[in-house]
Order: sequence, then structure tokens, then C-alpha cells
Amino acid sequence: MTIPPDYAKVREVCPICSQGWVLVARDNATHALFFRCDECGSEWEDARNIEDESSRRRDDYYDWDFVESRELATNKVYKYVINKISKNW
Ligand SMILES: [Zn+2]
Repeated sequence: MTIPPDYAKVREVCPICSQGWVLVARDNATHALFFRCDECGSEWEDARNIEDESSRRRDDYYDWDFVESRELATNKVYKYVINKISKNW
């Protein structure tokens, strides 16, 4: 049985499309983290600006992957993650 990936989420509902999750993604070339809606593809560089329509981007990144919550536990963006990993292990 395969455990589905637990991608790091920063918003339960995307403010642009009201459909998708806003997840943490990593650019494969630069390893920069950014935030991306899994439904409409809106992207943000800074989690603090997700409600700000003017800071939204699209398709700035073309080779990237969503990042799992556990990979971010020591990262500064972890404070924005809403599905933090359980500490009970
Ligand atoms: Zn969206």
C-alpha cells in the first residue's frame, strides 16, 4: 500500500479560484520555494501576500514539484504550513 504524499498546505481555499489548496512547491533549478494553487495554478513568492491579488503570478516556474510537509520542518516557511507533521513519533 502506498501512502499518499502529504503536501504542505498553506491555505485550505485558494483566494483566487475558491477551489484548490495553496501548496508549497519547489523550483527544481533554483530550489526556491514558492506557493501554488493545485487547481488554478496561481503562484506567490511570499506566503504573506497570498490574499494580495496584485502579487499573484502565473507560470513563472516550469520545472517544479510540490513539497511534502515533513521536508519543511526545519525551513523558515514552515510557520505558514497548516498541516504540520505530528510530533508523536
Ligand atoms: Zn486557485
